[in-house]
Amino acid sequence: MQAWVIGNWKQNPATVSEVNTLLETLLAAASDKIANKNLGCQLMVAPSCIHLAAVSTRLQETSLLLTAAQDISAHSDSTGAYTGDCSAQQVADAGATWTILGHSERRQYHRESHQTLVDKVSNALKQNLGVVFCIGETQVQYDAKQTLDVLNEQLAVIKDCWSQQPELNKMLSERLIIAYEPVWAIGTGKVPTVEEVSATHEHIKQTVASFDKTLPAVTVLYGGSVNADNADSFAASPVIDGALVGGASLKADSFLAIADAFSHAKS
Ligand code: PEP
Repeated sequence: MQAWVIGNWKQNPATVSEVNTLLETLLAAASDKIANKNLGCQLMVAPSCIHLAAVSTRLQETSLLLTAAQDISAHSDSTGAYTGDCSAQQVADAGATWTILGHSERRQYHRESHQTLVDKVSNALKQNLGVVFCIGETQVQYDAKQTLDVLNEQLAVIKDCWSQQPELNKMLSERLIIAYEPVWAIGTGKVPTVEEVSATHEHIKQTVASFDKTLPAVTVLYGGSVNADNADSFAASPVIDGALVGGASLKADSFLAIADAFSHAKS
């Protein structure tokens, strides 16, 4: 299975000049690795919406990395009176080929509901955007041993898209990545054990497979305080297909060290 390492830049960097520095450092180091056949995983970055078109245009010149949006509108896949929103069509036109959806920060700060996420997944697929769908439990839910129940509830978005929009099933089966991100591990330096993550990934893979026997095995990434020091241990698990990286993706060297770890383990 193809390994993925995806950088979620969130609301960073602050300026166009800093975006360019990060991007050019990343490109210089990534092209060296690819030229030396040292990189065996797919890289993708998700800049903030304001930087998406410029980053995508620069990356299209090289085809070393893909770009994703961090979110899209639930209300319309194209145009409309939705102040502040960016549609799937607009982000695809800006050069993104994927979008992150359901990140815990969107769920927390924007109260994204089940139906909102069903609409966003559908809108993405209608515009041929792949979906990196984020799921994960809070610390309280983890402590109460509710992780799998929470994940089942969150994965019901995918199940509902599958059953309610059969015309999008081909896209969904080809362009879906699940990112398991325990909320308590995001940006905290705390991580679950590799054994815990592996067991959870097995559960996610089985759950998605149970939605329909025609669904291919889904790619499942781990996210939450992945860094250059711990990436090797996650990459060693056969059911951890890559990483969604926040903080460590803002430095080219730590992002590429994580990519190296997955490349070596999966090739
Ligand atoms: C994230 O927010 O998707 C994330 C994984 O963040 P961090 O790597 O900083 O924990």
